[in-house]
Amino acid sequence: MKSFVYNSHPGRVIFGAGTLITALPGEVERVGCERLLILSTPGHEALARAIAERLGGRTHVFAGARMHTPVPVTDQALAVVAQVRADGLLAVGGGSTIGLGKAIALRTDLPQIVVPTTYAGSEMTPILGQTEDGIKTTLNSPQVLPEVVIYDADLTMTLPAGLSAASGMNAIAHAVEALYARDRNPLISLMALEGIAALVRALPRISVDPGDRRARADALYGAWLCGTCLGAVGMALHHKLCHTLGGTFDLPHAATHTIVLPHALAYNAPAIPDVMTQLRTVLGEDPASALYEFADSFGAPRALKDLGMPEQGIDEVARRALANPYWNPRPLEFEPIQSLITRAWAGQTPEK
Ligand code: NAD
Repeated sequence: MKSFVYNSHPGRVIFGAGTLITALPGEVERVGCERLLILSTPGHEALARAIAERLGGRTHVFAGARMHTPVPVTDQALAVVAQVRADGLLAVGGGSTIGLGKAIALRTDLPQIVVPTTYAGSEMTPILGQTEDGIKTTLNSPQVLPEVVIYDADLTMTLPAGLSAASGMNAIAHAVEALYARDRNPLISLMALEGIAALVRALPRISVDPGDRRARADALYGAWLCGTCLGAVGMALHHKLCHTLGGTFDLPHAATHTIVLPHALAYNAPAIPDVMTQLRTVLGEDPASALYEFADSFGAPRALKDLGMPEQGIDEVARRALANPYWNPRPLEFEPIQSLITRAWAGQTPEK
């Protein structure tokens, strides 16, 4: 018998299609907000304004969310919160928008309604990553958890095929690391395997037909499960590397996860034979190579150099990953980590 500790976070989740229209007004009433501030990225401003119009009343929009939650953007949004005397937040978008909502909630304790439009999973976690002066740091606080999450598969229909694949790989990364987390437990492992399986089924269908509604719903279901995994147990080398790369070089989050995951799994594989056996049930005989080929089949970027990471940055990232490491099943050593990053930088296959 393996002993474990299981913690669950309180949270309300509404899942479906068309829920933005059918469920949102009731949820706003339930949370009891009269002056909502709707948050979005600039790309989603039209959607945010359409929602504001539909909700009516004293609803305002801040459409300045940016990737990696830069603290100066949070400060701008806080000024708007004060100006309009917002009594609640509605984040509509991917992890960047949700991150901004969490950053505001941390500082104000305002209630949050979150409507995710990617597969990044931030809505299910008490984790907030913020970037200041090129350094991304993460904190863990129940105060950043949303009051309610409304999943509406219809809103993901516009997520371009390439971004859908990368975002789906980001979700898979949460589940893979949850399986070998120091504080893993049987319930989260079940969710992790189910989440990976749902995304492995859905992503190829979305890449062929981004308008496949059933595949979109499957992918969002997988993303919810994988996000729940990220929120419930600790993460390891893969997430540490991605946070370091994202914060240091401002690399696109989901694409960075897509490239690094096969290499991080290959690094850890010798230390986690039981998890590799579990992963074979959903990814096939060689899980690390399967993830590399899976991403490649969608035409996802293979190499960190193609995202704009300079070659001179490899040693710096390896040093930073070791300087303040997350727990990892295989001990972290500079040279193998440097070699892992070099392979990911060059777009090579994961080490066997
Ligand atoms: P994102 O939120 O930056 O979205 C990427 C782009 O896609 C944006 O331009 C956005 O406007 C657009 N977009 C989003 N949904 C769309 C849709 N349905 N249709 C068309 N366009 C759409 O990217 P992301 O990968 O979702 O989030 C990345 C950020 O989330 C990073 O800052 C990362 O650190 C954070 N994150 C945090 C956690 C956590 O638990 N704290 C977990 C995962 C990601």
